[in-house]
Amino acid sequence: MIAVRNLSKQFHGQPVLKGIDLDVAPGEVVAIIGPSGSGKTTLLRCLNLLEVPSGGRIQVGSVTIDADQPLKPQQGLIRQLRQHVGFVFQNFNLFPHRTALENVIEGPLVVKKEPRAAAIARGRALLAKVGLAGKEDAYPKRLSGGQQQRVAIARALAMQPDVILFDEPTSALDPELVGEVLATIRGLAEEQRTMVIVTHEMSFARDVASRAIFIDGGVIVEQGPARELFRAPREERTRQFLRKFL
Ligand code: ADP
Repeated sequence: MIAVRNLSKQFHGQPVLKGIDLDVAPGEVVAIIGPSGSGKTTLLRCLNLLEVPSGGRIQVGSVTIDADQPLKPQQGLIRQLRQHVGFVFQNFNLFPHRTALENVIEGPLVVKKEPRAAAIARGRALLAKVGLAGKEDAYPKRLSGGQQQRVAIARALAMQPDVILFDEPTSALDPELVGEVLATIRGLAEEQRTMVIVTHEMSFARDVASRAIFIDGGVIVEQGPARELFRAPREERTRQFLRKFL
């Protein structure tokens, strides 16, 4: 579903990603863990070109972007790629002046040109699926952070993406609201949706992800089946990092 080769990213000449190779198979749930500033969010944002890679190749489904070539002529491909990739932001990024339902149907209406009635019906069903039946007409500021994030997840699902990227989806939430969002994501994992999740929730990563990737200093230090990586990390850097959470 995703194939990344030799992905690099520099900010002001400072390397932040140093030749990342990453493959994600359909139905896999991949957790990306690692210290603050190690490049996790940058990697995730590069996957759907929210961040412009400095070099390398990114393939999602049938679309390939070659960041070693000028990106301008690839804008059409980038738009195509984004249609296959949902993104859930740390700070929800809902449209503040649109209701929950309007947020969810915006993409299907504007990008996919779906008929309004069909978009509304599916939008309602998706809000119900994330536990927000009855909140269709609520504006984001009337919703809790956990509810807003679940609207954002419904909005991502509304585009019927092949893969959903989550950027620290619970780190902006009050502790008592983290569980409801993790439960929603866990439900999606049980449906075998392909997901890549940057997270600091280590027990969630261990229990829900099929694979965990530990990144430090812009490189993949270690990866493997999530349970194994947490139970018996091979690399000293991974051990040191995980020790802080025990
Ligand atoms: P993580 O998600 O692992 O905490 P990030 O990907 O957010 O790490 O950041 C990796 C490094 O890149 C950090 O040193 C950060 O300061 C730097 N960085 C991230 N975004 C930008 C940006 N837009 N401009 C300059 N530096 C950035």
